[in-house]
Amino acid sequence: MREKLIFDLSREGRKGYSLSKNDCPELPLESIIPSTFLRKAPADLPEVPESEVVRHFVRLSNLNHHVDKNMYPLGSCTMKYNPKINDYTSDLPGFSALHPLQPAETTQGALQLMYELAEMLREIAGMAAVTLQPAAGAHGELTGILLIKKYHEAQGGAKRHKLLVVDSAHGTNPASAALAGYEIISVKGNADGRTDLEDLRQKLDSDVAALMLTNPNTIGLFEKDIQQMAKMVHDNGSLLYMDGANMNALLGITRPGDMGFDVMHYNLHKTFSAPHGGGGPGSGPVGISEKLVPYLPVPIIVKEGTTYKLSYDRPESIGRMMNFYGNFAVLVRAYTYIRMLGPDGLRRVSENAIINANYLLSLLLESYDLPYPKPVMHEFCLSGDRQKKAYGVRTLDIAKRLLDYGFHAPTIYFPLIVSEALMIEPTETESKETLDLFAEALLSIAREAETTPEVVLAAPVTTPVKRLDEAMASRQLNICCS
Ligand SMILES: *Cc1c(COP(=O)(O)O)cnc(C)c1O
Repeated sequence: MREKLIFDLSREGRKGYSLSKNDCPELPLESIIPSTFLRKAPADLPEVPESEVVRHFVRLSNLNHHVDKNMYPLGSCTMKYNPKINDYTSDLPGFSALHPLQPAETTQGALQLMYELAEMLREIAGMAAVTLQPAAGAHGELTGILLIKKYHEAQGGAKRHKLLVVDSAHGTNPASAALAGYEIISVKGNADGRTDLEDLRQKLDSDVAALMLTNPNTIGLFEKDIQQMAKMVHDNGSLLYMDGANMNALLGITRPGDMGFDVMHYNLHKTFSAPHGGGGPGSGPVGISEKLVPYLPVPIIVKEGTTYKLSYDRPESIGRMMNFYGNFAVLVRAYTYIRMLGPDGLRRVSENAIINANYLLSLLLESYDLPYPKPVMHEFCLSGDRQKKAYGVRTLDIAKRLLDYGFHAPTIYFPLIVSEALMIEPTETESKETLDLFAEALLSIAREAETTPEVVLAAPVTTPVKRLDEAMASRQLNICCS
């Protein structure tokens, strides 16, 4: 049966609000708003009571998958549960009602929060300084690469026009480097799933500005030779960039700064728990080593005695990366999360993320191929090759079938170095019971692929919309599900 949409429920005169009688004189609208901006006809809005409005939004929220509904094991995206206290603090009027142009004397609390958050992030990653400006991970990458560019220019090394990117990298890495004007050179991985040091050695020449990599990398493996790599890169006069979107595996255990990274970005919306995935605001702060400090984006927040100030007096700065100071509400959420957990809690986050990933992997190995050897860190990457070759069931089909079991699909076909990739990141916030259910679902799908492949090929059948032509769907958006 077709569900009633809110417009169908509209009846003239039904109201979702109650206001006391207006005791102000009524001014003609034309005296307040220029008539060219006024509607010629009333807006066609549904007239419904509050109860129907609430049901409407609850129904909409259920049409989609979200982490408050069930596990969302999207590899590399760290879809952890976002504690609701984060929303409470970011909604406090002292934060949410501020105007970014208010004088600093009246925004001391917000400046203190940003100052302290940058200090905590600095400590967590072992960097010399942190800017909170970038609006997302990819924006942080661009900021970091511009800092690297400025550094080399200041060294008189402007001719360094190449950026090395390891082939397991997130797609944003080469994209950000290209946007900053670099030629991208891909460095190969070895049979172990880690960076091939010999290939790196060959590609490191005097034109290389930096090497960019993720540690643990996107198949969830820790780059064991990172200190040797750092030495090779630094001996070449190049810098080392860490994509820190995978910090969920490292908190309280090890620090990029100690590994020798010069620049890194954090994904606050991933590791430090702000809702993300629908294209909402993110935050991608950048941490840097001592030699890059002069180039930080302006303004920076300085503390003088007990007072916080915005300083623009930075002659070597790369300039602003964003209007104002970053996505402040996401910063409040990350601050709340870090303060709530403390250093021991943060370490437990990563320990449990790693345990959960290895536990889940151990349950799935009987039915799916693991192309690179375990143990893994916070995520792992299976291959659906066996199912594809034997039964004609592709990774896409397996991912779609998972939706029928009530789970979000993993990341698929990424990274490119794994064929038919299923990249799974359970995160620390899933219980053993949920992990068991998720494993049962994937194992059951593997059995279906063997015995009734047509069921998997037809999936999903229980979702509001069935299988979509995804390329078309993003161009001809039709959100009406009937
Ligand atoms: C998510 C992610 C990014 C990009 O972050 P955005 O906030 O989506 O721009 C970069 N690298 C890795 C490894 C990621 O997982």
